[in-house]
Amino acid sequence: MADQNRGMRRATFPTSVSRPVASPIQPSVVYASPDPDALDRQYAGEASGYTYAREGHPNADVLAGLLDQAEGATGGIVTGSGMAAVSAALLANLSAGDHAVGADQLYGRSLRLMKEDLPRLGISTSFADPTDVSSIAAALRPETRIILIETVSNPTLRVADVEGIIRLGNDRGVLVAVDNTFTTPRGLQPLALGADIVIHSVTKLLAGHSDATLGYAAAADRDVAERMSVLVQTMGLTPSPFDCWLAERGMYTFDLRYERATANAARLADALAEMKGVERVLYPARPDHPDHNRATALLAGEGGHMVSFEVKGSRDAANALVRAMPDIAFAPTLGDIGTTLSHPATSSHRALTPEERDALGISEGFFRVSVGCESAETLIERFRRGVEASRSA
Ligand SMILES: *Cc1c(COP(=O)(O)O)cnc(C)c1O
Repeated sequence: MADQNRGMRRATFPTSVSRPVASPIQPSVVYASPDPDALDRQYAGEASGYTYAREGHPNADVLAGLLDQAEGATGGIVTGSGMAAVSAALLANLSAGDHAVGADQLYGRSLRLMKEDLPRLGISTSFADPTDVSSIAAALRPETRIILIETVSNPTLRVADVEGIIRLGNDRGVLVAVDNTFTTPRGLQPLALGADIVIHSVTKLLAGHSDATLGYAAAADRDVAERMSVLVQTMGLTPSPFDCWLAERGMYTFDLRYERATANAARLADALAEMKGVERVLYPARPDHPDHNRATALLAGEGGHMVSFEVKGSRDAANALVRAMPDIAFAPTLGDIGTTLSHPATSSHRALTPEERDALGISEGFFRVSVGCESAETLIERFRRGVEASRSA
């Protein structure tokens, strides 16, 4: 080993009068201060700087700045996963004795957090239909503190009455948190409509390459934001610098990917609707979608990058469809650069009883597609092959 390393002296990072164009990755866990006075000033908030990575680091702040810009937010927080952001939004604003209302088709883990974990902490929860504001209103109690909804639900792509629920929350002094993952800030900016909190699984279309697990939460009110930030630091929900760096890179192409994926999704939805063997297509921008009018008003007519559809038949038909489309990753995620396909009956909604799945219209032939950035023609051809295979199964 070289002599100069014997005393474990750290190397000096070279300086440059020219600056790097891409952000550096800063994995350092700790930051050394010149002396206790300097450290004191930093902790007192008189000097800016970092101390310990769990409490914050440059790559998280760079990414938070880009996400804030996208959502029209200030002071948003990046977390180690989308679920960390959901947890922060709920746990920072709820105490034992409080009540929370969730949308009845929330992301599986969010539902689990509200159904299993919050009640264990003395927080009661109930669930209601977010496409119908009167259903949410009926679930409110004097001790309700927060309502958690998703703009567009999984996997039936129902569009919540976001504006109505925000008005209701404001009238009743109840926080409204909107998980905007499926919609992205290009489809809707909940804070601009008056939501109290916006949440993202950055893992999905924002980061966009299925290689970073991250979340984001931002609040309109500074106290709410501060409570979430402290909770994230205390519970260690902090993201990894490398993941933040990957997601920063993804953010620079987010607009391009969003536009391509959304245009592809609209074309795929229409093409699927014409294919023999396809029973129904769910895409919010199509006139046959149950929330078409709301999507037109709320999402400026954009249907987003998610499409669901149903083919005739049972598990055999579903297997045949997936096997005939080897170029489309059959994986329970969304927002990748390439199209991915998921089968809710065996993945996200497998814990439901067949009757519960029936009530949601999730049959064995039901698929959810996260449309990617391939050429639309190639994509439609691949799905045509899959649907044909399901018909002969
Ligand atoms: C994926 C997802 C989450 C959870 O995000 P992770 O990054 O996987 O923890 C939360 N809400 C929605 C709507 C999601 O799609």
